[in-house]
Amino acid sequence: MVRVSVLTQQLQTLATPKKTFENWARTFRCVPEQYYTPTTEEEIIKIVHLARLTGKRVKAIGTGHSPSDLACTDGFMINTDKLNRLIRVDQQHKTVTVQAGMKLHRLHDHLQLHDLALNNLGSISDQSVAGLMSTASHGTGAEYPTLCAYVLDLTLVTAKGESIYCSKTENVDIFNAAVCSLGSLGIITSMTLQCERAFRLESHQEPAKLNDVLDNMDTIIHSAEYVRLWWYPHTDKVVIWRANKTDKDYLMPIKSWRYSNWFGYHVFQGLIYICRFIPRLLPLVSRFMFWAQQSRPLKRVDDSVQIFNFDCLFSQYTNEWAIPWSRTSEALRALNEFIETGTVRIEPSKRHEKTSSSSSSSSSAAAVVVGNGRPLKIHPPIEIRFVKKDDVWLSPAYGVDSCYIGLIMYRPFGKPVSYRRFWNGFEKIMGALEGRPHWAKAHSVPYKDLLRAYPKMKEFSEIRQKLDPEGMFLNDYLQRHFVPSS
Ligand SMILES: Cc1cc2nc3c(=O)[nH]c(=O)nc-3n(C[C@H](O)[C@H](O)[C@H](O)COP(=O)(O)OP(=O)(O)OC[C@H]3O[C@@H](n4cnc5c(N)ncnc54)[C@H](O)[C@@H]3O)c2cc1C
Repeated sequence: MVRVSVLTQQLQTLATPKKTFENWARTFRCVPEQYYTPTTEEEIIKIVHLARLTGKRVKAIGTGHSPSDLACTDGFMINTDKLNRLIRVDQQHKTVTVQAGMKLHRLHDHLQLHDLALNNLGSISDQSVAGLMSTASHGTGAEYPTLCAYVLDLTLVTAKGESIYCSKTENVDIFNAAVCSLGSLGIITSMTLQCERAFRLESHQEPAKLNDVLDNMDTIIHSAEYVRLWWYPHTDKVVIWRANKTDKDYLMPIKSWRYSNWFGYHVFQGLIYICRFIPRLLPLVSRFMFWAQQSRPLKRVDDSVQIFNFDCLFSQYTNEWAIPWSRTSEALRALNEFIETGTVRIEPSKRHEKTSSSSSSSSSAAAVVVGNGRPLKIHPPIEIRFVKKDDVWLSPAYGVDSCYIGLIMYRPFGKPVSYRRFWNGFEKIMGALEGRPHWAKAHSVPYKDLLRAYPKMKEFSEIRQKLDPEGMFLNDYLQRHFVPSS
């Protein structure tokens, strides 16, 4: 045990015992035994050796933005904030190599200096590069896959304390598994990303009617390079947001009080706080917020990051699933019926029928009935985005052009609201429509169903077993979803 005491001493200045970790939304917390903030890969290797010698579990975190217990552990937590160096920019091939803990907003600053940018983004740029990729986070755009499809190589510290380099040509299977691996294969210390020349976007958002959108979904998905929808539940109102690359001059609309951040944040928060006590007001709030903020067309021209990102407001519960985009309208109609009547019946999907002919025919051919007949009252808006299929083993868009449907139930002033019945029904609807859950969000899909939904789950599990036979990198979340129940 000499080694243990030496390592403990060497790592002492990086460690804080029993520090409470909370995710961004303050919906999940844990108290890791040691909370390390290493600055180099060598220090990470020492932490892993110490964990192996003392039988501890290890979890890396980025910025804790995952709205689930995905980043939690009671073992050793590795905060990657100080692994934030730019390693290399290759102007010719438009690639960048960074340490894994670099925050996206810092990455954008580096890229801007080299006239480069990521070609797609989600709603925020607060995440770490490794955290973003490890959960297959996504933006929107029919021709653009999830962001992890742009990872070209990475370096991983495994449970043995070895540093493995893998890429699309070297250690290929490990690479395919590791790009999106939720921290379950080891600690990623660096990544190389494909970028493109920096660009400006012209965005245009306009109000539309739900039925018109549902009837013309395929045309809408392809009506611009980047398209997303915000549906205001309890109304027939939708906002269609489109963006295309442009050389036009910057255009910043003057904000009226209704469009101001103050209004969107504080008035909205106050209104949904009142709805905690009088939920039947929520349809009115949904209609009011749409009228106040979205009922007029809005045009902007700005740098890509400014157009992709927006203010995601305050603490919230979220749930998000990917389904084949051909099923988008069917899913939204089912969701609407579930919300308004409390029940919806989903007829068996074609895929389930296909599965049934090769396996158990009767069980999978049954219709799915969701809900108990009690209508729901929920928060606006519901976000709908589109991504192109990719080949990252655990990407929810693996092999399938996908539509992501995201639900939010806000926690006004940090206060809880009820959301579980909504989540349960939503998950059943998405599951019946060949859905796959977003890894970062809290979901209830067990390993056996994930095995069915992800063609490469078996190969992934074999690599995880090989690289981490003792389960050093597991936590409760991964134990629930990545390990077959005995
Ligand atoms: C306000 C908000 C907006 C969001 N918008 C979007 C969006 O538009 N699109 C979308 O798809 N998602 C979105 N998300 C989800 C977010 O992108 C993911 O939760 C992402 O994983 C967060 O990154 P993080 O750095 O905070 O990672 P964390 O939450 O800290 O960790 C996530 C996972 O990554 C692993 N990990 C982190 N670093 C490493 C490492 N170095 N090595 C190995 N594993 C590691 C962790 O172990 C954990 O399993 C949003 C979340 C919030 C709160």
